[in-house]
Amino acid sequence: MEYEDQVQHVPNPKYDCLLFDVDDTLYPLKSGLSAECTKNIIEYMINKLGMEEDKAPEMCVQLYKDYGTTMAGLKAIGYDFDYDDYHSFVHGQLPYEILKPDPIFKKILQSLPIRKVIFSNANKEHIANVLGRLGLEDCFEGVVCFETLNPLNKTDIPDAKAALELNGSKSSTIRSTVTDFINDSCETNAEFPKTPIVCKPFEDAFELALKIAKINPQRTLFFDDSIRNLQTAKLMGLHTVWVGHSNLTKGVDYALESIHNIKEALPELCEAIEKIEDIHFLEKVAIETSA
Ligand SMILES: [Mg+2]
Repeated sequence: MEYEDQVQHVPNPKYDCLLFDVDDTLYPLKSGLSAECTKNIIEYMINKLGMEEDKAPEMCVQLYKDYGTTMAGLKAIGYDFDYDDYHSFVHGQLPYEILKPDPIFKKILQSLPIRKVIFSNANKEHIANVLGRLGLEDCFEGVVCFETLNPLNKTDIPDAKAALELNGSKSSTIRSTVTDFINDSCETNAEFPKTPIVCKPFEDAFELALKIAKINPQRTLFFDDSIRNLQTAKLMGLHTVWVGHSNLTKGVDYALESIHNIKEALPELCEAIEKIEDIHFLEKVAIETSA
């Protein structure tokens, strides 16, 4: 089914967009893909950046906590490396084959007649690989990813344009803002060195993503496995769903053990769809009866 065919009209829906993280959200943490990714990051820190073997694992976790991604943290504390080199080392060796097609989730997504957009800190190639393995490559209107948030020319051109890669839609542009990167909402230490990388959970990444994808936060439901990402999302006005967890906490509107339970977070929309389906069924019966 073409993506455009999946977006239909539901009268007065509460949401008009579903915004999804990728890793450990569209597939479960227990798949082990993220653990493999962490191993590769640690290997990169040791082999490429020359960090001490016994300190790299702890540093990897700490930088992730402080900066949203280990990569952003490494840049902040002064390591100089090429983004593409990092991504190809960390993701290039990943065993993507452990992810299996998910026809159940695909069907659910295709049954929800509103916009669906990806918002991930990962790079474009990794996201394409994950979506391809899950069989979900046609289910989203567009992808906001590392390259979208961190266009190569942003430091050279003040009004740098960042494009959202959309399926069948025109790209839009946005002024890139990288100031005030560290903010209080994410409980980070304001004295930490700043990173040049724009990523979740920081507000500027959300501001950029919302503008690029033309998303109204008040009418959007955001799915992520990271509580820090969700808490910033909540501050930005988004409605939030914690994926992979069953307990509600601060910043979380819904908690889902599995993304397969997505309809639990969309009762009004599902009700509206059922009504439409009932009307279509009745119309079909009426036509067949009168024929
Ligand atoms: Mg995630």
